[in-house]
Amino acid sequence: MRGAVLYGPGDVRFEERDDPKIIEPTDAILRLSATCVCGSDLWPYRGADTFPQPQPMGHEYCGVVEEVGREVTNVKPGQFVVGSFFASDNTCPICRAGYQSRCVDARLMGNEGAQAPYLRVPLADGTLVATPEMPPDDMVPGLLATSDVLGTGWFAADAANVRPGHTVAVVGDGAVGLLGVLSAKQMGAERIIMMSRHEARQKLALEFGATDIVTERGDEGVERIKEMTGGLGAHSVIEAVGTQESMMQSIRSARPGGHVGFVGVTHGVEIPGMELFFSGVHLHGGPAPVRRYLPHLIDLVLSESIDPGRVFDLTLPLDQVAEGYRAMDERRAIKTLLCP
Ligand SMILES: [Zn+2]
Repeated sequence: MRGAVLYGPGDVRFEERDDPKIIEPTDAILRLSATCVCGSDLWPYRGADTFPQPQPMGHEYCGVVEEVGREVTNVKPGQFVVGSFFASDNTCPICRAGYQSRCVDARLMGNEGAQAPYLRVPLADGTLVATPEMPPDDMVPGLLATSDVLGTGWFAADAANVRPGHTVAVVGDGAVGLLGVLSAKQMGAERIIMMSRHEARQKLALEFGATDIVTERGDEGVERIKEMTGGLGAHSVIEAVGTQESMMQSIRSARPGGHVGFVGVTHGVEIPGMELFFSGVHLHGGPAPVRRYLPHLIDLVLSESIDPGRVFDLTLPLDQVAEGYRAMDERRAIKTLLCP
């Protein structure tokens, strides 16, 4: 088969890779219905992450089970399934506590390279969630979104303790931030303030349930949030970028006793201890335990309660994956859907 391989900054190639096959008896092989480019793929694409050799890319996926190993019992060939960007056993104490992304046997799906027509999924029983029947084609983008960006936005809102009546600030207008807005709306937030200066993203945020847009950033952005909340700050803040500026903007936008859910992969973030100490803010985040939320999120998509697939504003055949990266890197696209 042919799939995406990153060679170095700005250099994604669509080239021959080995067909995935069952290696462990707990594996499944999927024929992917759709895959996509993640905002976090842009870190290595931009040279912010280094890697020693050409690296298969992609960790978001949904599709049809082709083959399962002999120990797999929860899914079977022919079923449509979605999984998280971390494979997990879903049975260890960490998984059972709802933190499947930190499973004692967690496997990063990026190592398997999901920007391809076929994908090996380790720990298939714990990782994959099947839909009740084969979904119609127009629901595939929404189901694909549950695999990472929606699950991550949902975790961010949950970690930020979004509750009915809360004021929520969202830092980061990528797909995860936008779906953080959608998640906060579902959780009953009263006021959702999207911090964005990008017109198309502001528009989608408003459609997903944002009530206000703030275009200022950094300390000016914090000032705006304070002005809008009687000087207190937001109850809940979703951090969906991962830079020093976005993290501090998030912590400073939260009121004492408030919560920050941080899901942007951090790069060079250092939090001053004394400021953290006196902030009185709850910080919770990290790689989202998407598996915890998948059954609920899949139900919400299939019942047409939400349409998270709208974050895909560019659809390309898989062989044009390089253009998919370029469009997101240049912010011409929010998120690229790839059709194998
Ligand atoms: Zn586990």
